[in-house]
Amino acid sequence: MIQILNNWKKVAFWRLLIQWAFLGWCTFLGVQFTLFVRHFETFGQTGYYARPPGVEGFLPIGALVSLKAWVMTGYLDPVHPAALVLFVTFLAMALLARKSFCSWICPVGTLSEAIWKLGRNFFGRNFHIWRWLDLLLQVTKYALLLFFVKLVLFDMPAMALQSFLKAPYWAIADVKMLHFFTRMSLTSALVILVLAILSVVYQNFWCRYLCPYGALLGLLSFFSPLRVVRQASSCTDCGACSRACPAQIEVRQKSAVCSVECTGCLTCVSNCPEPQTLQIGFWKRPLPGWSFAVAVLLVFASGVLIGMLSGHWETSLSYADYQRLIPMVERF
Ligand code: SF4
Ligand code: SF4
Repeated sequence: MIQILNNWKKVAFWRLLIQWAFLGWCTFLGVQFTLFVRHFETFGQTGYYARPPGVEGFLPIGALVSLKAWVMTGYLDPVHPAALVLFVTFLAMALLARKSFCSWICPVGTLSEAIWKLGRNFFGRNFHIWRWLDLLLQVTKYALLLFFVKLVLFDMPAMALQSFLKAPYWAIADVKMLHFFTRMSLTSALVILVLAILSVVYQNFWCRYLCPYGALLGLLSFFSPLRVVRQASSCTDCGACSRACPAQIEVRQKSAVCSVECTGCLTCVSNCPEPQTLQIGFWKRPLPGWSFAVAVLLVFASGVLIGMLSGHWETSLSYADYQRLIPMVERF
């Protein structure tokens, strides 16, 4: 901790701070939403807490349906508008600042990173899967992405989109998501446990091999103008950047990192011992490290603000709707 505080001028310090601030914020939203749902489950016996729209960030597949409906028919879903706002915001973030959502904002990414750091402290290192298996496993997240994209973008006709968005199932999709965590089945708990154990040994196991959301953001990040750039003239080829990269990218061999696996964590930049050699750049033009943090926060704040100011943030469901829907959630 003392070492971290001494590093406050480094972008790594600010990334850690932002990561944990978002994790804290997500936890707060989760607790508030649990209390909101509990109020209706107990038929008003417990206190009422306002529903936080931010929980809709956990509904990316529904948000993809919502996005398609908006693009194809102009219908803007009023039931979970924040889901679409956050989804589009994170897509925009990937287009500008790589997969920064994964290493700056996503709570799963934050926990995953904390777990592999624990593993590294315990074993003295993290382990790498054989290259051929690593590549094979990486395909899994694209296969999952393809499955969802095919299901939503190709197989779902325009009429079915609005039916889905107006159905009771979608209305309480957030409650069902909450129940996934609060009423977890033994199978789900075991799967999460196995993933957590694998994450102790292998860096970001879930993110690297299985997360379809990260796969989508990674593909978009290919077009991102913000990328890590290396000045070959001052590089001593020490390899510290490649060794430090959690995405296993050979940074030392690149003039600019355009990989779809790069999360913009800037760990490589923080670990380069040569000043002004490894930096974040706009295309190839070097920028100060803090500008990346500012870009990430600006995109996030702008997206949320636009959603709020345009009236696409709060759900259109009323107290009476939740009073009717939540007690019968198991039926959907
Ligand atoms: S290349 Fe640098 S910024 Fe990209 S994932 Fe690796 S360490 Fe992070
Ligand atoms: S850490 Fe810096 S000096 Fe070392 S190989 Fe990477 S870019 Fe070059």
